[in-house]
Amino acid sequence: MKFNLDALIRPGIKALRPYSSARDEYTGKTGIFLDANENSLGSVVDADLNRYPDPYSTALRETLAKLKSIDSDNIFAGNGSDEAISLLMQIFIEPGKEKLLITPPTYGMYQVAAAIQGAGVIEVPLDEGFELNLEGLLDALCPQLKIIFLCSPNNPSANLLSQANIDLLLREFPGIVVIDEAYIDFCEQESWLPKLDRYPNLVILQTLSKAWGLAGARLGFAFASAEIVKLFLKVKAPYNLNVLTQRLALQALNQSARCCAMVRELLDEREKLSSALQKLACVEHVFRSDANFLLVRFKNCARVFTQLKKLGIIVRDRSKLPGCRDCLRITVGSKSENQALLSVLKEI
Ligand SMILES: *Cc1c(COP(=O)(O)O)cnc(C)c1O
Repeated sequence: MKFNLDALIRPGIKALRPYSSARDEYTGKTGIFLDANENSLGSVVDADLNRYPDPYSTALRETLAKLKSIDSDNIFAGNGSDEAISLLMQIFIEPGKEKLLITPPTYGMYQVAAAIQGAGVIEVPLDEGFELNLEGLLDALCPQLKIIFLCSPNNPSANLLSQANIDLLLREFPGIVVIDEAYIDFCEQESWLPKLDRYPNLVILQTLSKAWGLAGARLGFAFASAEIVKLFLKVKAPYNLNVLTQRLALQALNQSARCCAMVRELLDEREKLSSALQKLACVEHVFRSDANFLLVRFKNCARVFTQLKKLGIIVRDRSKLPGCRDCLRITVGSKSENQALLSVLKEI
């Protein structure tokens, strides 16, 4: 395959002259700042927030770069992975003309962002074992197709996708291949990050929303070639990450030991929950999980869902998705939450 980034970018984005913020022009830390029409006296609350944030989240990206052993030029920091997903479409997909590809059942935001962008969506469903249908994927490649979204471990099926299949796609497809690693911290396999050098068309998504326990803060990352990261920076809102989030994330990234400890506890709970569920009369099958949730096929899924909801236990009904007949997606809870769930299910 011949990968030509320049030819993939939408002409309007290539020609775009991005907004130049006041803080782009002067990056020194000290000085008398009269350039951005901020309030020079301070904030109305006790919070030191009168200055605009660093548009490039430099400190945060440098800290993350050390943690991940990559260069900060290969990192984009966004307002959740969702921002990175939308930006990818804005950069590469011409509305009404060009397309992306997804492999259902998968994360719903790819389709929503596609609809907003006016991107065509090609669907090549996963096979019965929730593995990529390689033949179907290779058949679907066409000139209008710009981005393939893969999610590994996949939401909602919870499994890792085969590395060999993804490697092949990365070699054969001359567009962008996104691997969404939102759940990578919960699985044995290592991230695709070390392969960034080998594949100029690879974009990896990670997030602080899951293992790091910061879903409320909204912080996600895209890892890619420096050229692709430059495009993200060109198209994003000038101040996409606020000061509070940047500060908090710096603190969080220094707590990786805590993150690992929580992951271990959740994995331990996941194994207990999985084996307890398998013994229940109402359960037909518990799928293997490489993530912090379980996909569970029930004998009477609708009844189980309603019963749980009535008792204040909310799970995600995924039964309408391809390959997910009668399936609920259950996040691994704390020990007591899992016990509460199991005791209700025992009565059904
Ligand atoms: C939860 C999740 C995310 C996280 O998105 P954020 O916007 O970073 O919270 C991304 N991808 C998948 C597949 C997810 O399940």
